[in-house]
Amino acid sequence: MTDPHQWQLPPELDETAMGLPVPKPGLVMGIATERLSRKTWFPRDASQPLSVPDWHSFCDMVWQAEAPWPCRLITRHKPAITMDVPSDSEIAYCGKAEWGPEGPIIEVDDDGLTRLTALHEIAHLLVDADRDWPGHRPPFARSFVGLLARWISLESAADWWVEWTQALSWALDHPGWPPS
Ligand SMILES: [Zn+2]
Repeated sequence: MTDPHQWQLPPELDETAMGLPVPKPGLVMGIATERLSRKTWFPRDASQPLSVPDWHSFCDMVWQAEAPWPCRLITRHKPAITMDVPSDSEIAYCGKAEWGPEGPIIEVDDDGLTRLTALHEIAHLLVDADRDWPGHRPPFARSFVGLLARWISLESAADWWVEWTQALSWALDHPGWPPS
């Protein structure tokens, strides 16, 4: 478990996860991230809000190192986040990422001013540019663990991957979850 690029789901699990109906992908992703951030060894400064200038700087640094496209990332701190497209999750949003006419944009509220949320939103931008699938599926998960490994720690990435695959398997075994 040293190279996140090598981490794969069993093919049948990968295929089922691509077709998992909303809002499950977002809920599964949220469970894995919540469990990771509660681990006693997880660095507190990765899940606690940065100052607004520090958060902008972190996003810029990661984007410049990771994005294969030479374009500027627009980052905005807002009082509240509203989703203008149907989202695939019912969990509360503290950030969103989208490719607008001006380029890639990340917006977060006070709770989203963390390195963990910055990496989550950048993972979306890296894989969602030409997507025809809703986010929080296996391509997103592979993008996110790569960022976790490089910008927080390999241990964090490995732990998130284990939590995510376990929550995913559980969700696939329980078609009635969440009760509607
Ligand atoms: Zn997301």
